[in-house]
Amino acid sequence: AKFEDGGLHPITLKNIQLAGYTVPTPIQKYCIPAIKMGHDVIGIAQTGKFTSHYNGSGKTAAYLIPILDKLMGKAKKLAAPRPNPAMIDFNSAQVRAEPLVVIVVPTRELAVQIFNEARKFCYRTMLRPCVAYGGGPIGDQIRQLAKGCDILIASPGRLVDFIERPHILTLRRLRYMVIDEADEMLHDDWNDELGKILSGGEQEEGNIKYMLFSATFPKRLRDIAKDYLSEEHVRFR
Ligand code: AMP
Repeated sequence: AKFEDGGLHPITLKNIQLAGYTVPTPIQKYCIPAIKMGHDVIGIAQTGKFTSHYNGSGKTAAYLIPILDKLMGKAKKLAAPRPNPAMIDFNSAQVRAEPLVVIVVPTRELAVQIFNEARKFCYRTMLRPCVAYGGGPIGDQIRQLAKGCDILIASPGRLVDFIERPHILTLRRLRYMVIDEADEMLHDDWNDELGKILSGGEQEEGNIKYMLFSATFPKRLRDIAKDYLSEEHVRFR
C-alpha cells in the first residue's frame, strides 16, 4: 500500500512528503482507511513493535493523518477564529477554546512529541494545534489556546483543569477524541480525570469518534470501549 492510494487530500499528501514518509507503517495501513471511513478505532500494540527502522510504530501519524484529512475539507468552516493576539482580552468571558480534536496522553514528553508531529500535518490546513500539560507554564498555555485551538494535545490533569475553569476550554465542538497510551492513564490519580474527559465530550455532542491506543487492554479499558466506542469499531493488534 502507498499513501497515494488512500484517497487523501493533496495537502495531506504534500505534508506526508514533507515529513519524509514514503511507505506507511503497518499500523498506518490499518488505521488510515478505518478512520477515513468514520470508524472508531482500538489499537493495541507495544510501542516499537511493528518496525525496526524507526523507534516507534508510527501510530501518531496513523491517527493524525486521517483525522486532519477528514477535517480538511471543512476546515474553512470549522477552524477556530484567529483573533489578533494584541486584541485578546484575557479577562473577558469570551476566551474559549473549542477544539475539534483532543488527544489525551500520559506525559509531557509525549504531548510535545505529538504536538510537533501535529504541526507538520496541520501545515496549510487552517487547523491550529495547541499543547497543554501539567507542570508547564499555565498562563502561556491559556494564551496559546485563546489564539485559536483546533487540535489540542493534553495531559489529563491539565485538560480537566482547563475544562473546569471558566472561559478557557469546552469540548462542545469535539469531533475526535484520541486516548493515546491509555493504559498509562488508568492509575488512581488519573482514572477520574479520564472518566471526566470521556463524559465531558459525550454530553455535548452525540457524534464524536473515539480512538483508543494502548499497549495492554485491561478491564477498565474494555469498559471504556463498551461505554464510549461504537459497537462497529475497528480493532487491531
Ligand atoms: P510514533 O510511533 O508515532 O511515535 O513514530 C515513531 C517515529 O517514526 C516518529 O519519528 C515518526 O516521525 C516516524 N514515522 C512515522 N511514520 C513513518 C513512516 N511512514 N515513514 C517513516 N517514518 C515514520
